[in-house]
Amino acid sequence: MIKINKPQQFDLNEYVPGNNNPRNLYGLPKKIIFCKECSFSNQKPNSEKEYTHNINSKKPTMDFIDGVCSACRMHKIKQKVDWEKRKQELHILCDKYRKNDGDYDCIVPGSGGKDSFYASYVLKNEFNMNPLTVTWAPHIYTEWGFKNFQSWIHSGFDNYLFTPNGKIHRLLTRLAIDNLFHPFQPFIMGQMYFPPKLALKMNIPLVFYGENPSEYGNKSDDKHKAEKDLSFFSSELQNEKMYISGLTVKELIENYNLSKNDLEPYLPPKKNKFSDKTLDVRYLGYYLPWHPQECFYYAVEKGNFRPSPERTTGTYSKYSSIDDKIDDFHYYTTFIKFGIGRATYDSSQEIRNGEITKEEAVLLIKQFDGEYPERFKKEIFEYLSINEKEFPLHYNLFESPSFDEKYFKLLTNKFRSPHIWQNENDKWSLRKTIFGNKL
Ligand SMILES: [Zn+2]
Repeated sequence: MIKINKPQQFDLNEYVPGNNNPRNLYGLPKKIIFCKECSFSNQKPNSEKEYTHNINSKKPTMDFIDGVCSACRMHKIKQKVDWEKRKQELHILCDKYRKNDGDYDCIVPGSGGKDSFYASYVLKNEFNMNPLTVTWAPHIYTEWGFKNFQSWIHSGFDNYLFTPNGKIHRLLTRLAIDNLFHPFQPFIMGQMYFPPKLALKMNIPLVFYGENPSEYGNKSDDKHKAEKDLSFFSSELQNEKMYISGLTVKELIENYNLSKNDLEPYLPPKKNKFSDKTLDVRYLGYYLPWHPQECFYYAVEKGNFRPSPERTTGTYSKYSSIDDKIDDFHYYTTFIKFGIGRATYDSSQEIRNGEITKEEAVLLIKQFDGEYPERFKKEIFEYLSINEKEFPLHYNLFESPSFDEKYFKLLTNKFRSPHIWQNENDKWSLRKTIFGNKL
């Protein structure tokens, strides 16, 4: 029985350049606006509760006021923060939880990239905490990503590396790309729920994340907050309302030959698990000023961190999120669905931090945004192919179990929103770009 059909060729009529009322998919705003300060687009959906996400979800998008995005507004709020006072607040918080009896007193989730390195190092060495670092493994480590992960541990930390069942993770990643064009979604869910689950199991009362997602315009009304809301990583929803890879848990169990055990690592803990225990989840970025470039220099100096030896596809940088070979595909899919590629993400942040000008950013976006994920494609296409030998229970769920470049291109076109994309003479281009607008 086939459940996932091969994407079909479709009518290109609504993608004609002159269409003045094209459809907008995913609940994205019809009118495309770029922030007048950082050039970010209003098409970015906010990160919602991932376990409710399906193809019909209409997520709220980044909030703009007078042409300025919420990330830029948050940046201005942060410039007025009394960081000395915040540091004292962190001392008080750490005094409350610090343990000297051999038990861990906090969890620092991370991959061993610059941000998790900075967070764990500061907590351990400047605030005398005893952190346990925890990691949800990437799909496929890059060579330099794995070396940085090892450097992190060898710079003085205990680490729990959780690597999910490789077959189930591949299958869920394939379903997520077919159903949502979101190859990272199962990873995001696993990575999000693993630290609080482990904290509950090991009776560790405090979890530290790095930056509050509102720094990147994640929520319109988020104040600069220290606590992370429990509803992001706990739930009371039943299997028919809980989604992974665009399908309900009920469907995955009843129709996709998966078991409760297979899916458990991807599901949020039940709310009642927290009832007799306290779990304090905080953003370290609330207490300490957070500069990605400075975290990088810190990680190089103290932890032997190394940038990638090559430029990252889709952008100009070499040190941000470099440990997973599927990353290039992730940013390519955001470019296709929202018109926002990796150079836009990177440059908007650097404009806010005063590292580059808007004019420089626009040139970088023009040059690198949406670059095709060429370098690891052979390995990724193999990873996404659900062949009969390795997946006897699952390969027949797909009309095309194998995943190749032709399949990826068909799928890519299926997820282009007509209000973002136009097609002329079989060539795709964005209807509106930051570099097509006057500076
Ligand atoms: Zn902005």
